[in-house]
Amino acid sequence: MIKKIVVVGAGQAGVQTAQTLRQKGYEGELVMLGNEPQPPYQRPPLSKKFLSGDLAPDALFIRPEAFFEVNAIDLRVNAHVDHLNLDSKSVVLSNGKEIFWDKLVLATGTRARDLPLPGADLEGVVTLRSISDVERMKSLFVPGKKLVVIGGGYIGLEVTAVARVMGLDVTVLEAQERLLKRVVSPEISTFFHALHTDRGAEMHCGTGVTSIEGKDGKVASVKLADGRELACDLVLSAVGAVANSELAIAAGLDVDDGILVDGAGQTSHEDIYACGDCVRFFSERYGRSIRLESVQNAIDQAKAVAVALTDADHDHSHDYDPLPWFWSDQHHIKLQIAGLSNGYDDAVLVGDTSSDSFYVAYLAKGKLIAVDSINHPRSHMMARRVIGRDWKDDLLPPA
Ligand code: FAD
Repeated sequence: MIKKIVVVGAGQAGVQTAQTLRQKGYEGELVMLGNEPQPPYQRPPLSKKFLSGDLAPDALFIRPEAFFEVNAIDLRVNAHVDHLNLDSKSVVLSNGKEIFWDKLVLATGTRARDLPLPGADLEGVVTLRSISDVERMKSLFVPGKKLVVIGGGYIGLEVTAVARVMGLDVTVLEAQERLLKRVVSPEISTFFHALHTDRGAEMHCGTGVTSIEGKDGKVASVKLADGRELACDLVLSAVGAVANSELAIAAGLDVDDGILVDGAGQTSHEDIYACGDCVRFFSERYGRSIRLESVQNAIDQAKAVAVALTDADHDHSHDYDPLPWFWSDQHHIKLQIAGLSNGYDDAVLVGDTSSDSFYVAYLAKGKLIAVDSINHPRSHMMARRVIGRDWKDDLLPPA
């Protein structure tokens, strides 16, 4: 019988693991260790309504304080795990305290990718992943300040939208020739380019950055590869995220751009599981290994881990292999994505891109694999049902 489970990481996946463990009847000790000062909170609003000031900090919390008490979850904040001991089956916190476990769950998420540029360490060059990051940015989020956003992905564009509404001058620099290139079709990229341009942001795609220049230790400008220099008060580096897998690497677990797990979330160590953004797993649906960064993935994979931990007869018949879905809010537009469109050979636009409500269906060998919807929730929900239902009939070739 499992007497003690320790969850490292008090985010979306960590909380869901703990909640489902209790719902499934786990009665042993349950400790959750998070290295942030706040109780577990949702990250999506950080680049949306929380940044704009339209959401109070309390509204970010995933569960009220009482939830942890009622469910006997020993939540410890400001508790950074320094390393794992496999021999003694323990974790060691940065204050030296050692905590033992029978089973361990790693739900450590991701962190912002470093910007490999001279000047990236200047004051005023920020990333956005946490409440503390937003607090650091807030004093410069005032009308007339000049913001340069490096990276035209979801977070960069959501912050651009909020910043424009709040009256900042915003320039977006994207190294690729179009926005969101990794995840959406050219039609959707063009739509968002026009949206942000219409709302007054300067958008530059295919533009390299060579350095960030400072004055008295503070950011002053961004130098571009074509020789231009943009004066600014704040730079947001939004060039992607990397998995927090150092604990697993140091302990000798299998890691490859994410902690490697099977369909039950089990790592290469039989007593250690992992879930959420920090994890890479093989998807039969997509014929390749994937690492997802989304709330859907954090919640559903955490449930799979908790089920595996509480079901002694777990037989892999319900292995985790989701139809991924995401969303992004920018100005009055809600983009919803069902499925991964990588490897599509045909994209069908349904509706009119000037109407602010349309969708793009992605096909591979005549089969629907993903749908990107712009203010069109019906097509999103339908796509989740249809793609989710049919996939086993006709597996996709590896991308
Ligand atoms: P996290 O929520 O990141 O939690 C991991 C926790 O573990 C963190 O608190 C971290 O500090 C802690 N930790 C790490 N290492 C240690 C350690 N050694 N010791 C103790 N604690 C540790 N997803 C969507 O689906 N839709 C969106 O619109 C969307 N918007 C987003 C906007 C922003 C600005 C960001 C940052 C993310 C957004 N996401 C969105 C992604 C989504 O928030 C993540 O996929 C989700 O939070 C992943 O949950 P997680 O539990 O795996 O990781």
